[in-house]
Amino acid sequence: MQRQLSPTPTKEPGEARPRPATVREVQVPEAITVARLAELVHASPIDLMKQLMRAGVMASINQAIGFNTAAAIIPAYGYRAVPVAEAAKAAKAPEEAGDPAKLQSRPPVVTVLGHVDHGKTTLLDAIRKTKMAQREAGGITQHIGAYQTEYKDHKVTFLDTPGHEAFTAMRARGANATDIAILVVAADDGVMPQTVEAINHVKAAKVPIVVALNKIDKPEADPERVKRQLTEHGLLVEEWGGDVIAVPVSAKAGTGIDDLLENILVVAEVAELKANPYLRARGIVIEARLDKSRGPVATVLIKNGTLNVGDYVVVGNVRGRMKALVSDAGRRLQSAPPSTPVEVLGLNELPQAGDTLEAVPSERAAKALVEARLLRQGNLRTHVSLEDVVNRIRTGETQELNLIIKADVQGSVEAVREAVMRLSTEKVQVHIIHTASGAITESDIFLAEASQALVLGFNTGVEQGARRLAESEGVQIRFYNIIYTMVEEIQGLLEGMVQPVVKDIVEGHAAVRTIISRSRQSKVAGCMVTDGRLLRNAQIRVLRKGKAVYEGPIQSLRRFKEDVREVAAGMECGVVLAKFDDFQEEDILEARRQEQQPAR
Ligand code: GDP
Repeated sequence: MQRQLSPTPTKEPGEARPRPATVREVQVPEAITVARLAELVHASPIDLMKQLMRAGVMASINQAIGFNTAAAIIPAYGYRAVPVAEAAKAAKAPEEAGDPAKLQSRPPVVTVLGHVDHGKTTLLDAIRKTKMAQREAGGITQHIGAYQTEYKDHKVTFLDTPGHEAFTAMRARGANATDIAILVVAADDGVMPQTVEAINHVKAAKVPIVVALNKIDKPEADPERVKRQLTEHGLLVEEWGGDVIAVPVSAKAGTGIDDLLENILVVAEVAELKANPYLRARGIVIEARLDKSRGPVATVLIKNGTLNVGDYVVVGNVRGRMKALVSDAGRRLQSAPPSTPVEVLGLNELPQAGDTLEAVPSERAAKALVEARLLRQGNLRTHVSLEDVVNRIRTGETQELNLIIKADVQGSVEAVREAVMRLSTEKVQVHIIHTASGAITESDIFLAEASQALVLGFNTGVEQGARRLAESEGVQIRFYNIIYTMVEEIQGLLEGMVQPVVKDIVEGHAAVRTIISRSRQSKVAGCMVTDGRLLRNAQIRVLRKGKAVYEGPIQSLRRFKEDVREVAAGMECGVVLAKFDDFQEEDILEARRQEQQPAR
């Protein structure tokens, strides 16, 4: 019999104080610190700790206790604990509560990526300028980390920090801000290492790409060569039958910008970007800084819903009430609909870029949510070790093994790529997210975190900052210098993963004494369990003179007309098998159970 685990016994609070006549309700989150609970029930934390100790729970003042423990303790103070429903509701994604009928299209959010000096900053400025001319007087343009421009009555939001480092760092924090990526390639210089890196980062994020063939004003510009080079990296331009739009521009001279915007709108339309402006807001922090006079200031990109002045919000572990919303044009707004970047004032602390902002119904909900988060922290971290990935594959959470490969020279990169590609099996696809020669960089770690990928270093090292980042983010780097060793190790894990070792366990035997015809189709074997036990859910192997004649599941297991789950040795029982009734006297029924065991 399987033993039932009983909950750890907790002692009754020994010297519970006399219960006050009135019992007040207090909302308690799923986890709460002793200090905060003491505050809620107007008790001294020391007193509360004593009560906990009597109940067998050792907790220091800043330690968290669960709802149930809290609920068991606070009646002594005249309170009854109720779960924080409000906080739970607020924690739910607003989309879940969204009414599809209220979905409206929203402006695309665009990030500019590309190799250094290919003109990202110049392009962002050029686009910003096209709007400046149309902008009404009065506002003072400010750099808040993102801006909105308008083209043919359609808004487009641009993130001001170009480059894939920022793009992937955000994604690693769970924030997918970008809808469309503009890949800037200088037509005179062509595809360069960071261009390739950008392509891989954007592909990993499954974000559509529009290529800006920049610097076409230069006499040595060769856009056709760039298109050919892009093909080698899986980007086939439209004119060659692909689906990538490439627009020739000169960021410096301001030519081709309209064409670029026009095409971004086309891609946005295809992507059917929607949001529900009637929900409470949810957004992403793009930038945050401490202003001497205004306190913490953050630029938030609204992803869904509408943020209003006066709203209570939670951003990571920070909370606040929206005092003011300021647009990139320096105007004060009352509210900010989806895809709007706004500077927000009113947070109690500095949030982090990449954090999600959520509007919540009340200050109390905000407090509870932050509290629950603080307590849960540490458990929420996503670690990317080979073992974790293997586990996720084993549990069916994913069928992909994502890899980032860095090696000493391009030749080894290719060799390693080929070797690991061959490791794909029917059940597990090996995906190579990014490869390059050189040391492992921070950018690789962010990409690994964002894509739940492992980093393989082949005959190469890791940059200091990247090592620290990998450690703090729990991204695993595996180093190898012999391909064979690498292949063997990964293969071993993958195989173990898809074919867990199945252990066959014989649980018992029963001898068939008589055969009873119940109907024409089914016969009951009247048996005596000779050793072990017979379980209702066992597989039965029918042995005749030592040879197996059948194996299959039990259809019914009975004792005295009663269905039973188990029959022990020395007992008699009736067995009906699901698809077998050709019993003979003296057959032996062997009860077997299969147990899957991890292959390590
Ligand atoms: P980033 O590093 O990608 O942000 O590149 P920048 O925007 O800083 O541009 C690098 C250099 O290229 C600057 O000197 C720009 O003036 C120049 N540049 C950018 N776009 C163009 C262009 O369309 N034509 C020419 N001739 N020069 C450009």
